[in-house]
Amino acid sequence: MFEKVEVDESYVRFSKDRLHRFYVDILTALSVPEEDARIVADNLIIADLRGVESHGAQRLKRYVKAIEKNAVNLRPNIRIERESKVHALLDGDEGLGQPVSYKAMKMAIDKAKENLFGMVGVRNSNHFGIAGHYSLMAVDEELIGISMTTTRPLVTPTWGIEKVIGTNPIAIGAPIEDMPPFLLDMATSVVSTGKFELYRRKDKPIPEGWGVDRYGEITTDPNEVLSEGAELPLGGIGEILGGHKGYGLSLVVDILSGVLTNATWSKWVKNTDEKNSNVGHMFIAINVEAFMPLEEFKRRMKEMIMDIKKSKAKEGKKIWYPGEKGALTAETRLKIGIPIYHKVLEEINEIAEKVGVEKLE
Ligand code: NDP
Repeated sequence: MFEKVEVDESYVRFSKDRLHRFYVDILTALSVPEEDARIVADNLIIADLRGVESHGAQRLKRYVKAIEKNAVNLRPNIRIERESKVHALLDGDEGLGQPVSYKAMKMAIDKAKENLFGMVGVRNSNHFGIAGHYSLMAVDEELIGISMTTTRPLVTPTWGIEKVIGTNPIAIGAPIEDMPPFLLDMATSVVSTGKFELYRRKDKPIPEGWGVDRYGEITTDPNEVLSEGAELPLGGIGEILGGHKGYGLSLVVDILSGVLTNATWSKWVKNTDEKNSNVGHMFIAINVEAFMPLEEFKRRMKEMIMDIKKSKAKEGKKIWYPGEKGALTAETRLKIGIPIYHKVLEEINEIAEKVGVEKLE
């Protein structure tokens, strides 16, 4: 069985199973219960499998730091604060974001299966990783799945220079007949913060338009954006390319996952490695049978997507639908392994050494 292939001097590939075992071993060595460790590992793996490098292996360090600083509760008492046939509100008791998110989406799915619709909010949580993981849980059950979360403030509103809104991601997934599911999984900023960190780690300038310096001018220095500057909302600087719409979308996520859940909105969300970061999430599962038979919905999804894919593309380019590239990347990486950037590999191996877990080689 394939375990490792040298791709080039920058990346090394590992099988999904080897990486999963590695993450679970590290997290359990840090006293995370095994069931929770597996859910966190699943999230990291799904990210790297689908090509979301910003939220895979490179995130482990942050979670480990938060655990070591006692900023997360490893034995949370997750409470159901409100509940009806179609909704619930959970208090995550400051635990890791992924386990409570998994539980919340599972509740939303069960409610949607029984009562056509499920909407479960979470407060008092932490960073939940990639939003798409939870939407895909609903899609696996042939439902439409929606997930979103508040984040710490990293983005500036249109015409602002201060970081007061979040990168607040939203992921919407839906099944399609005979094709990989639709999955739009995106930050409401131009890119996610993880991408700035990735560029910083690779000592590369960021593309123009991702962020501004402390005076509100476009910069290509990831360090400036991550320190005194700010990330830009989806659409970019000002109003010309629709930056105000990304800003508005970020607030929509704040309303549903921060204000409505009685968590807090991004302005007040703390870093993962601080106590009481009070991240809020919202998970929605929709049973399409409320509107039409499932098979008809999936067929109509395919027709809609194919209408778009068959339309004319620019010379040398191809039209993709959201979720298509991610699914293809996952299919390939399941066969040839997940590439881990060498600096990230060094970092996670340092962690392994520290906690007494076998290193990735
Ligand atoms: P990307 O810009 O990489 O991708 C956004 C979406 O666009 C994906 O669904 C992708 O599908 C789709 N897409 C890409 N190219 C095309 C194309 N040519 N045509 C149609 N669709 C396309 O994502 P972001 O950088 O915005 O976010 C990355 C991740 O970070 C997300 O998983 C998000 O959940 C996570 N995140 C988490 C945060 C947290 O605090 N927990 C905060 C912010 C982001 P495909 O996968 O098929 O490429």
